[in-house]
Amino acid sequence: MYTVGVRETQNGNPGQVAVFDTTLRDGEQAAGTRLGSREKLTLARQLARLRVDVIEAGYPASSPEDYQAVELIAREIEGPTICALSRVVERDIVACGGALAKARRARIHTGIGASDIHIMGKFRDERYGRTLGEKKVTMIEMARGAVKLARTFVDDVEFYAEDSGRADPAYLFEMIEAAIDAGATVVNIPDTTGYTVPEQYGRLIRSLVENVPNIARAVISVHCHNDLGLAVSNSLSGIQNGARQVEGTVNGVGERAGNAALEEVVMALRTRRDYFAQYTNVDAREFARTSRMVSEMLGIAVPPNKAVVGGNAFSHSSGIHVDGFLKERLTYEIMQPADIGAAESRVVLTARTGRAGLRDRLDKLGYALSAQELDQTYQRFLVLADKKTEVFDEDLLTLFHDEIHGAPEGWSVDYLHIYSGTNAIPTATVRLKRAEETREAAALGDGPVDAVYKAIAAVTRTNARLVKYEVRAVTGGAGAMGEAVVHLEDNGRRVVGRGASTDVIEASAKAYADAINRFGLSEVTLPGMEPAAGG
Ligand code: MN
Repeated sequence: MYTVGVRETQNGNPGQVAVFDTTLRDGEQAAGTRLGSREKLTLARQLARLRVDVIEAGYPASSPEDYQAVELIAREIEGPTICALSRVVERDIVACGGALAKARRARIHTGIGASDIHIMGKFRDERYGRTLGEKKVTMIEMARGAVKLARTFVDDVEFYAEDSGRADPAYLFEMIEAAIDAGATVVNIPDTTGYTVPEQYGRLIRSLVENVPNIARAVISVHCHNDLGLAVSNSLSGIQNGARQVEGTVNGVGERAGNAALEEVVMALRTRRDYFAQYTNVDAREFARTSRMVSEMLGIAVPPNKAVVGGNAFSHSSGIHVDGFLKERLTYEIMQPADIGAAESRVVLTARTGRAGLRDRLDKLGYALSAQELDQTYQRFLVLADKKTEVFDEDLLTLFHDEIHGAPEGWSVDYLHIYSGTNAIPTATVRLKRAEETREAAALGDGPVDAVYKAIAAVTRTNARLVKYEVRAVTGGAGAMGEAVVHLEDNGRRVVGRGASTDVIEASAKAYADAINRFGLSEVTLPGMEPAAGG
């Protein structure tokens, strides 16, 4: 039976803290986007290289797409434990069991609300009991049943007591004891709403160690949200008080203000090992590239002043600091860029770079390509290198995502003509292709991009609403490649499309078409799976 560090690291003893990454579940959930299963697999491979202990790959019952992604990751990824999320609902747990069947190490993560607010708010129906007291008894029975059912599929079951941060501690102890008694190997104490402060959250973890009689049979896990900017501090406080697993996401992406940023937790434990006396298995040198990949895939930029992975995290600007730094780097630097893999020399590729050089570079950036993907990317690379002379890593990543991770089937921009100018009415003519089909349309707009979008909307007959549109230069210089990111919403479903080109209008058109194609992807239904009921 596989359980993270139970034997070596009982709750509260010095030793290893297991790192549980939920970028693909809690992180993706909040990005307003759904990653395709191939993108999720690429990211999971990178998380395996980062050597996290657990990858939470998704919530299989939420959609056929997510089921497929978890199944793919479970089959392909070696090393980390692959985990899937569920409610305490039979259908959810059965879906987890199915999706995880091929995993070498599998974990089901199931749980239920523990705070009065959650219990009264989410379980109003009288079948759960008439009073809060009756409902509380029912919750514990449901928790017990869910853990037992999950144990019939896997040996490793994590139980979460949602909104633990606002729960009545005495009730939380009871619920956790029941979950462990039913076979939970890990117990997760989420501060779902980011409500607690470090000393208080630490005390809560300590009180579990002291008050739950069977706690030694499970690992305590911390899962903190950043609503008050305290997710990392709370996580560290939990670890100091006995937690031996920490949950979070790369770059701190996640619901609302995000989850605890794993790179910050790990680097704090590492830089201040003298203080925490804990270590993790993570290979911190992979943080820079993992951060870049997450930012690229979810379309969420990393602020320059972000701790550990921000663009300015290692740059010194004030005169006094620079002077001191040059005399002795330790004066103003507690970590070094090389520690997180940010120090690698910037390799510049040109049109003379061969296929092998391109493959080698993408490999170093964390992307393993099939022969066909390499061919495709190489053709695009040559066109870009011709226009741009020097191709940087950022260009390469953008191009790669555009080429490989675009929706595989659907509309592509075949022809684009824009008429625009100071006193002109912006007009766009577009021709889109899909398999053998070709359609054309023209439209007027408030600006050239607006005109293009109206023309594409006419061609594809979409009613989707444009929620957000961003365009940025990937690298410096007037010849820089532009990347456009488009968020569309249709029937309550949101997708993100991306497009790249040295022409920003063309990049915008491609991004819009890519987003529309992504709506199409969701129509895939797996045999034997009804669409999620939600909740
Ligand atoms: Mn969460």
